[in-house]
Amino acid sequence: VKSLEYLKQLGVNVFLNTRVREYDGSLITLEDGSSFRTDTVIWTAGVKGAPLEGLPADSIVGGNRIAINEYNQVAGTTNIFAIGDVATHITEENPKGLPMLAPVAQQQGRHLAKNLKRVMKGRSMLPFEYLDKGVMATIGRRKAVVDLKVWKFQGTFAWLVWMFVHIMSLVGFRNKIVAFLDWMVNYFTYDRPLGLIIRPYKRSENGSESL
Ligand SMILES: Cc1cc2nc3c(=O)[nH]c(=O)nc-3n(C[C@H](O)[C@H](O)[C@H](O)COP(=O)(O)OP(=O)(O)OC[C@H]3O[C@@H](n4cnc5c(N)ncnc54)[C@H](O)[C@@H]3O)c2cc1C
Repeated sequence: VKSLEYLKQLGVNVFLNTRVREYDGSLITLEDGSSFRTDTVIWTAGVKGAPLEGLPADSIVGGNRIAINEYNQVAGTTNIFAIGDVATHITEENPKGLPMLAPVAQQQGRHLAKNLKRVMKGRSMLPFEYLDKGVMATIGRRKAVVDLKVWKFQGTFAWLVWMFVHIMSLVGFRNKIVAFLDWMVNYFTYDRPLGLIIRPYKRSENGSESL
């Protein structure tokens, strides 16, 4: 709800609960029959996996993702593993698999490394369990939302938390410092606002709109 409010403040028209039916080069038509004109379309609907040839055909499921079990083994194999966005562990609890998010890939990576070490020592593998620490998203300058299991918050504090968590997730001290300085320069120079590619329209007295 807060994200939607922020986007509206930034001048974005959001169409919810409808899909794009077609685009003919100038007119976008939605499933509900409504349409609007635009010469620019940035298509971000969905990410598709690029699995390798040679995997069992029935291990490739929706979105070209590779079906895996709780040990990250590719369905129908015991010595091939898949983790991250390209892999999906479908269970009753998660019929669509886990979300394609960085923490899922990171946790699976660490877990698989531990399991491979266990196998080398002749021990059995342990099943993977995803620890959902919550989600956060940044929308613009000092605008972010953080949704933890026990606490939801937004605004400047959420934006600072978002930056801190993302900087701390970068590998290596140098990368952390470079990203931090880069973001600070962008913030103070307005060169390229953090994650923001749009600005609200300013309406002049004669009613014309400009960025
Ligand atoms: C625009 C965008 C924003 C996102 N924002 C967030 C966010 O805010 N928070 C969050 O948690 N997640 C976010 N995600 C999702 C997150 O980036 C992914 O979940 C995460 O990167 C998955 O890690 P991965 O290692 O599985 O895949 P990737 O990070 O995609 O790594 C796969 C790598 O494999 C390489 N590759 C592909 N094919 C081959 C091949 N044939 N041979 C060799 N290499 C190959 C690719 O070049 C790539 O480097 C975002 C994703 C996108 C696209």
